[in-house]
Amino acid sequence: MKMPFADFHSDTLTVMSEKGADLFENGLNFDAKFAQNLDEFLQVFAIFLPENLSEKEAKEYYQRNIDYFHNQLNRFSDKVILVKKREDLKKKGKIKILLSIENFSFAAEEEIKKVYEDGVRIASLTWNSDNAFAGGALGSGQISENGKKIIRKMEEIGITLDLSHLNPKSIDDALKIAKKPVLATHSSSLSIHKNPRNLSDESYLEIVRRGGVAGVNFHKDFIGPNFDATAVARHIEHYYKLDENGVVLGSDFDGADMPNDIRGLRDIGLIFSEIENLGIPIEKLYENAIQFLEKIL
Ligand SMILES: [Zn+2]
Repeated sequence: MKMPFADFHSDTLTVMSEKGADLFENGLNFDAKFAQNLDEFLQVFAIFLPENLSEKEAKEYYQRNIDYFHNQLNRFSDKVILVKKREDLKKKGKIKILLSIENFSFAAEEEIKKVYEDGVRIASLTWNSDNAFAGGALGSGQISENGKKIIRKMEEIGITLDLSHLNPKSIDDALKIAKKPVLATHSSSLSIHKNPRNLSDESYLEIVRRGGVAGVNFHKDFIGPNFDATAVARHIEHYYKLDENGVVLGSDFDGADMPNDIRGLRDIGLIFSEIENLGIPIEKLYENAIQFLEKIL
């Protein structure tokens, strides 16, 4: 079985930087050593900014994480590359990493330019609560005037908007404002399992119509009811049947409770077997990811 792998969300970088762990052999869900065995490998590393930080603290937190990442990248430059432009996708034989920000709470024109220079290519505006820009999945807010400005500025500079963690009203607002393709990096299907973090069929279809993708999240609370690889596969199948061109993976490695039978990346074969049994080619998920990245990079 050929196993090309592309995944749009993990919190591994934040955990690594907190623990002082290495990209290789770190005992985490994400395992760079195992990644080398897969046919293709691309992982988005999020810098997750906790909600309780002040603007100054958030900037410092971000800086610590980005410095940690660039250190790791230098150490393992023979095996790993940071994907910043389209041509980087073609480089063979290396682990490809993209950078995103989850909860870009300190976004402003200068900061957007700075994080772009650092290599960040995807960002979400909130986590689960409302903030100055938008309404989070557990909040009731909408996209503010300032939030609209930030979305436009991100598009202008080249950072793609991530809709995961927004509430439905904010997703609708964002889809009206955005002119370029957007994505939901780690959002499973609301039709398969009711949870405020999951994505409605309407939102999924609108994201895909605009050239975007949605990554199925492996988190137990989002996949129900049996919390296993089969449950994850059902979400993939649902998106695939709605529109086969929009479904990708958004595992949430090292930021979520994994399904009972999934310890992390090394068990990805279980999910791949399930979806193959459902008649979905594994390669299709990878192709969707690459075709999307070719549009936004
Ligand atoms: Zn998240």
